[in-house]
Amino acid sequence: MSDTTANRINQLVRQLNEYSYAYHVKDEPLVSDAEYDHLYQELIHLEQAAPNFILPESPSQRVGEKPSGGFETVAHTVPMLSLDNAFDNQQLLDFEQRLKKLIGTEEEITYCCEPKLDGLAVSLRYENGLLVQGLTRGDGVAGENITSNLKTIRSVPIRLNTETPPPVLEVRGEVYMTKAGFERLNQQAEEAGGKTFVNPRNAAAGSLRQLDPALTAKRPLVLCAYSIGYTEGWQQPDSHYDSLINMSEWGFRINPLMTRAESMSDCLDYYARISQQRPKLDYDIDGIVYKVDSLTLQQTLGFIARAPRWAIARKFPAEEAITQIIDVDFQVGRTGAITPVARLEPVFVAGVTVSNATLHNRDEIDRLGVQIGDFVAIHRAGDVIPKVAKVLLDKRPEQSREVHFPTECPVCSSELEQITGEAVIRCTGGLICSAQRKQSLKHFVARKAMDIEGLGDKLIDQLVDLGLINNPVDIYRLIDKKDILLSLERMGEKSVDNLLTSIENSKTTELHRFIYALGIREVGEATARALTGHFASLDNIIKATSDDLLNVDDVGPIVAQHIRRFFSQSANVDIVEGLIEVGVHWPDVEKNQTVTEQPLSGLSYVITGTLANFSRDELKDKLIQLGAKVSGSVSAKTHCLIAGEKAGSKLTKAQDLGIDIMDETAVITLLEQHGVS
Ligand SMILES: [Zn+2]
Repeated sequence: MSDTTANRINQLVRQLNEYSYAYHVKDEPLVSDAEYDHLYQELIHLEQAAPNFILPESPSQRVGEKPSGGFETVAHTVPMLSLDNAFDNQQLLDFEQRLKKLIGTEEEITYCCEPKLDGLAVSLRYENGLLVQGLTRGDGVAGENITSNLKTIRSVPIRLNTETPPPVLEVRGEVYMTKAGFERLNQQAEEAGGKTFVNPRNAAAGSLRQLDPALTAKRPLVLCAYSIGYTEGWQQPDSHYDSLINMSEWGFRINPLMTRAESMSDCLDYYARISQQRPKLDYDIDGIVYKVDSLTLQQTLGFIARAPRWAIARKFPAEEAITQIIDVDFQVGRTGAITPVARLEPVFVAGVTVSNATLHNRDEIDRLGVQIGDFVAIHRAGDVIPKVAKVLLDKRPEQSREVHFPTECPVCSSELEQITGEAVIRCTGGLICSAQRKQSLKHFVARKAMDIEGLGDKLIDQLVDLGLINNPVDIYRLIDKKDILLSLERMGEKSVDNLLTSIENSKTTELHRFIYALGIREVGEATARALTGHFASLDNIIKATSDDLLNVDDVGPIVAQHIRRFFSQSANVDIVEGLIEVGVHWPDVEKNQTVTEQPLSGLSYVITGTLANFSRDELKDKLIQLGAKVSGSVSAKTHCLIAGEKAGSKLTKAQDLGIDIMDETAVITLLEQHGVS
């Protein structure tokens, strides 16, 4: 083996460690994964040929041998103490008063503030810059030796990045898992049929205590340094904040939100600011740690019992609490989705009293195995609706009972349905279900449906709340209620007249608009047109069997089922008849409206980008008039892509597939050729 090999190994190790530091500590990757892997392979190759030249800080040395026994217990050089807690601002102010009294000063004290990571505290010992030992916190006096596992964490430096390392340095930090890493890990576990973890903290704990470091290496763990526990032969800066900046220069990740505060009032502001950011952070934190920044002052203040006098943790309100489920109700949402809601014995969690928690859907009830009467853990983070996180089976009372999912809509008694592959169970009531009423009415009056201008969302809400309209037929009865309309807020003579005119005008419509307006699930505009073209009359559509429906282009078994369900509910038929009675009408439609003779029939178009002369919907209408099909995504079946300005991925895809592409001018010519403009 030559010097050149040793030099190259040296060079590769330095380079790879630099890349790894940029990626895992600074979150600023310098090279692609592929390039890293390429260099890493070269290193492995050289190391195999020259094992004598392997450096301890080589990335290949992160995953070591499996230790033979369990973890040995080792005493900490300096005990890892816990911190006193403060649960409100007053307790923080009291803390500061005590400090001022002990120091004998009235002057402001400078603090170092940082988020309290919800992970596991560890201690890392470096001798002459090289990591020699890593311990868990344990009971604070002694911890378990998990050096090989800690070495697998990429943000743990194996060698300090300095030419003049302290002879001895003990760094303390928190090992945690990011929320994204946790999700990924659980997803993998689920796919492999394995056990999932409850939260990132448990996942991090389980990962750190694996007996096989190769397993730990696969877990997305992160180390964040938060203090220096002990040092020999090195003059530490007289500031906690500066010490951490120093650690950062030596290769440790420190929390980017860490800051120095010049007074307690700044500390309180910091708490408020971080509380706000908390739900958006990619890691769990359970409070803020405040430390007196000056090390000299820290020494003056010293310790009491098992906690330092110079530090305190302001805890966030707990996000989880235990309570009992009194009952389970079923709510019907705007779209008919049935949501089970647990009624709880009120409990204080994350700063508010919670008496309901969502159970999401039937699958979730099964997954949790929850029963009425059960004691459960309630979780509430940020603005998220509280949810039932876990059932405490060992506390299940004898009189607990199973949750029975309803067999019909609890609001309107319509049938419920569940689409294969969807977790949601819905009420099929549509127009007749008061829970879905507002939503159905808003759809009914929409531009592409009955097009009733002036009947906006807010007015519909108001009219429904006042009991003035319950179903679409009632909208037409408003024509006789001008006085009542005039009495409503913000409704002047002119707006009422306009509204009534547009209601009156909407009576003259087209069959496909009418069908679309009914809001039958998954019957969009295109399907409504297809049904109209195929059956030519409303009667035929109402009477159509599933088989008849399946003969229509675009209608698959699920849509056919939705249509059958809708017209089999007599309340829906009553509404359809009621609308006709009040005068809603449309011109006759010829059966199979010369479909085959239309110029663009059988051709499929996709529209993308911005058009100068029409909206995409308008162009879509025109193309459909000519018999074309217009779909939302480009596939091999697409005949032509119409690309306006700023066309993006659809254009690229169409080019890749060799599909015809037409610009706006070409489309206008095409439309004109067929008498549409
Ligand atoms: Zn219903």
